[in-house]
Amino acid sequence: MTRSMVVGNWKMNGDKAQAGALISGAITSQAETEAVDIVLCPPFVLIQQVISGCSGSKVAVGGQNLNLNTSGAHTGEISGSMLSDQGCRYVIVGHSERRSLYGDTDTIVGKKAALADSFGLRPIICVGETQFERERGATNSVVERQVQTIFDEAGPGIFPNAILAYEPVWAIGTGQTATPDQAQEVHGLIRKLIKQYSSSLAENTLLLYGGSVKADNARDLFVMGDIDGGLIGGASLNPDDFREICRATQV
Ligand code: PEP
Repeated sequence: MTRSMVVGNWKMNGDKAQAGALISGAITSQAETEAVDIVLCPPFVLIQQVISGCSGSKVAVGGQNLNLNTSGAHTGEISGSMLSDQGCRYVIVGHSERRSLYGDTDTIVGKKAALADSFGLRPIICVGETQFERERGATNSVVERQVQTIFDEAGPGIFPNAILAYEPVWAIGTGQTATPDQAQEVHGLIRKLIKQYSSSLAENTLLLYGGSVKADNARDLFVMGDIDGGLIGGASLNPDDFREICRATQV
C-alpha cells in the first residue's frame, strides 16, 4: 500500500464561513502532500459548498451517513443516490455515534455499505469496541464480528473499494488515543480477516485509524505497518491541525 488517506469528519459542526476556511486548508494540504487522498465529510447542508469549493482540486467529498432506502417517505433522511447525485464519492457508514445513538446495528451497517457501493460511493466503514468490551478482553471478538457481518451482508468483493476505519469507541472525542501498538494490533487483525478471502484484497484495502488523532500523535500512529491513514473528528475542524495530520502520513 503506497497511498494514504485522511478523512475529516466534521460531524454536526460548521457553517458557511468555517467551511470556506477548511476547504482552503484541505486544498493546500492536498497540493503539498501528493501521496495522500484527502476526503472531507461535512454535514449534509454544507456538501454543495464543499463540492464546489473543492472542484478542480483532488480533495474529495463524502456524506456522514445514508439511509437504507433510495427514496420515499423518510422525512429528514438522505439516500446514497442523493449523495452520489450531488457529487460525493465517499460516505461514512457505521460511525459509533450512528451505532449508539441512531440504532445502526452490525447488519444495518453491512447493508448500508453494500448500498453505498451500489451507488458508486466508497463506504468508509467504522468498527471498534467500547471501553467495557476492551476491559473484558473482547476487543478482537467484537471487531471480528463487525467485520464478518460486512462480509456477510456486502460480500468481500466490496473491498478494496470500501475503506475500513478502526475507531475504538473509548478514543473518539475523548483525547484518549489508542497507543500505536494497540491500534496496530487491531489493524493487523482486520488485514488478516480480509486476507482469508484474498491476499490482494487485504493488501489493497485502506485501513484508517480514528480516535483522538491530533497533530502531535498522528505520525506515531501512521508509521505502523497496517495503518494507512486516519479518520479525524475534532482536529479536522482546525485547518492547521488537519494540515499537520495530512503531512504526518508522509513517514
Ligand atoms: C470521529 O468522530 O470519527 C473521530 C475519530 O473523532 P475524534 O477525532 O474527535 O476522536
